[in-house]
Amino acid sequence: LGDRPRRSIRELPDELISQIAAGEVVERPASVVRELVDNALDAGASHISVRLAAGGVRLISIEDDGAGIPPEELPIALKRHATSKIANLLELESVGTMGFRGEALAAINSIAETTLLSRSGAQPNAYFLDGRTGELRPGARGIGTTVEVKELFFSVPARRKFLKTDATELAHCIESVRRHALARPDVAFTIWHDGKLIEQWRSHPGPDGLAQRLGDVLGEDFLAGSVAVDHQYGAVRVTGRAGVPDISRSRPDQQFAYVNGRFVRDKVITHAARSAYEDVLHGQRQPVYALYVSVEPARVDVNVHPTKIEVRFRDSREVHQAVRHAVENALAAPRAGQTAPAGA
Ligand code: ADP
Ligand code: MG
Repeated sequence: LGDRPRRSIRELPDELISQIAAGEVVERPASVVRELVDNALDAGASHISVRLAAGGVRLISIEDDGAGIPPEELPIALKRHATSKIANLLELESVGTMGFRGEALAAINSIAETTLLSRSGAQPNAYFLDGRTGELRPGARGIGTTVEVKELFFSVPARRKFLKTDATELAHCIESVRRHALARPDVAFTIWHDGKLIEQWRSHPGPDGLAQRLGDVLGEDFLAGSVAVDHQYGAVRVTGRAGVPDISRSRPDQQFAYVNGRFVRDKVITHAARSAYEDVLHGQRQPVYALYVSVEPARVDVNVHPTKIEVRFRDSREVHQAVRHAVENALAAPRAGQTAPAGA
């Protein structure tokens, strides 16, 4: 028996718990961008500015004009499982915010140098928190929040090794912002990389906003070559735009699906959209689309994946039918007028 060594069970230190949890949420700079933009949107921002250096590995700085965080709550924002977004199980089941797990900032702070600079509407000035030292002091900025994340994975060299070139990481970061931008045409976004302005999408409030934003982000070809989707089936509403076969692509790189405003990778939606193109698209061609599925929050579980990129529908058959019919109807409708004034 003596030759079976064992170590005693112990509780892991908080920081190690966060670092382990971070592995689930933060794969690369783009994951940090996604979480921080989610937070800015949840704070009601109307302009979100993303600054990156070296593909986001050196620096990710996200500035918003949202509600801000009062100084006494800044240290709590960095704690694990600390959130202002849900308080009980009932609220979890009907959650309407992007976040609710209270994990992102704690995870990010455990694997990168993280600072917060924030001013809430109730404060005469901003406060700055250094996530590593815990130092809290007055700072300067208007109402809103700036989160800075430096040297991603500096304390986890094993993870840092998995990062690709700066150009590849930058492309993933841009893709992450693009996904948000297509969900929120009413919000303005800017992206800077190594001091250069990379993208600038101004806000488009109003009913034509989505078409305008799709044109800005995916190009005028997408807008001109796509038809409006708007269909209700049972409890499911599907809106957006679907590309005609002419603008199909060889890769599935312009397929955007949203559920209640959240970008998702969902087999049900992908399959339903694909089957709507069954008779009009041949071989390996990939359809392009931006589809927005709305269902009652209680009919979809968003808490199945740490990054929330997967969801589970209570009635996936209904969602499948809704998406398929929505796209089929849109493609079958006469195209007259589709290229007339943007957003028609
Ligand atoms: P979650 O988004 O799941 O609540 P996070 O760790 O991402 O968890 O953020 C923790 C909390 O910090 C949020 O619930 C929110 O109250 C606050 N917070 C984070 N980012 C911002 C921001 N940009 N503006 C205002 N409050 C923020
Ligand atoms: Mg969050």
